[in-house]
Amino acid sequence: MAGSDTMQQLTILGATGSIGVSTLDVVARHPDRFRVYALSGNSRIAELAEQCRCFKPTFAVVADVDAAGQLRERLHSWGLNTEVLWGVEGLCQVSSAKAVDVVMAAIVGAAGLLPTLAAARAGKKVLLANKESLVMGGQLFMDTVQKSGAILLPIDSEHNAIFQCLPQGYDPAEKGGVRKILLTASGGPFRNIPLDDLSSVTPDQACAHPNWQMGRKISVDSATMMNKGLELIEACWLFGLSPDEIDVVIHPQSVIHSMVEYVDGSVLAQLGNPDMRTPIAHALAWPERIDSGVASLDIIATARLDFGAPDLQRFPCLGLAMRAAKEGGSAPAVLNAANEVAVQGFLQERLSFIDIARIVAETLEKHEVAELESLEHVQQVDTEAREVALKLICSAH
Ligand code: NAD
Ligand code: MG
Repeated sequence: MAGSDTMQQLTILGATGSIGVSTLDVVARHPDRFRVYALSGNSRIAELAEQCRCFKPTFAVVADVDAAGQLRERLHSWGLNTEVLWGVEGLCQVSSAKAVDVVMAAIVGAAGLLPTLAAARAGKKVLLANKESLVMGGQLFMDTVQKSGAILLPIDSEHNAIFQCLPQGYDPAEKGGVRKILLTASGGPFRNIPLDDLSSVTPDQACAHPNWQMGRKISVDSATMMNKGLELIEACWLFGLSPDEIDVVIHPQSVIHSMVEYVDGSVLAQLGNPDMRTPIAHALAWPERIDSGVASLDIIATARLDFGAPDLQRFPCLGLAMRAAKEGGSAPAVLNAANEVAVQGFLQERLSFIDIARIVAETLEKHEVAELESLEHVQQVDTEAREVALKLICSAH
């Protein structure tokens, strides 16, 4: 039974987002296991304030000094003594603080890199939702985890499923009899629409995912299938595999969250309702199991599970990511940066949906792939790729 000696102090980076809110939902079910040490949010100050009222963290972190002032005022008027910090330093402070056991890394995009890395460096149990940080600086990130003894647990539903299907204590160097990974993908909202219609789809249509409720950036990534490409790169780093050992499989129902095939022909799958509280609860409690609030899978009502091969003509972003994964070095960081800029452009209606792949492809073409030597090098490649992508967007107008 969990008692005060098993109480885990938790920092949630990106608490106001989709993953952050689901994490707090699970945490609220287990007040005997988890105490919220810190929450962070970027722009939704009112939501963050409400979360502070419910969970009474020691720290809250916001984007800048103005937002900090706003939040402080609100919290004080409620008589809360949560201390408010701001900026990247504030984020790194609460992800590496001595009192913290677990860090949920759920900031979206490259902005998550430094605070997630700070948690890894400090040897925390890192619950990784922020796949972009691994795509950008995979080697650096994995070396840091190795050195500090941090525990890295995947939150992405596919990677969490793979983790669950791998043998306990899986050693990437030994491969544990794994032949390949079957990385499943729903195909998103545009899996079946006529190809000619893709140029006129709107941000709201792209964000209307058939199976998952997520933030807008990852929703667009799911619609282009760049998300699956980023996940392929993420899986290579997490499980020590090469891109050739991972097959992307379209599975529209999102009931199987991924599979592992072994050399003896066995294929293990993890199934469940598409609800992120399952992987979140799994990682929070690992190696134990706790209630997540997710309903039982009704396999009879599910009735059928379909599978197909991805169409790289419909989803050129997936092809670009596969190529970047094979090239390695700085290519994935460039892919990620250009994609973030292009997705932002699409969400702001400055770009059409099909332009996202074009901007990413052209940014990659202009880049000469190099080995990433350091964190500074990762950041430099990221900044330069953003500038190139932004120029390409501007010159298109
Ligand atoms: P979201 O947009 O709903 O939330 C993002 C969070 O990050 C918010 O709390 C926001 O305040 C914060 N944030 C945004 N920009 C920031 C910045 N510059 N500095 C500091 N904080 C910032 O996104 P989400 O859907 O929760 O996704 C979060 C991460 O989890 C992403 O990396 C995504 O790929 C990954 N992920 C999400 C899901 C899902 O179901 N939502 C599934 C798998 C992986
Ligand atoms: Mg996923």
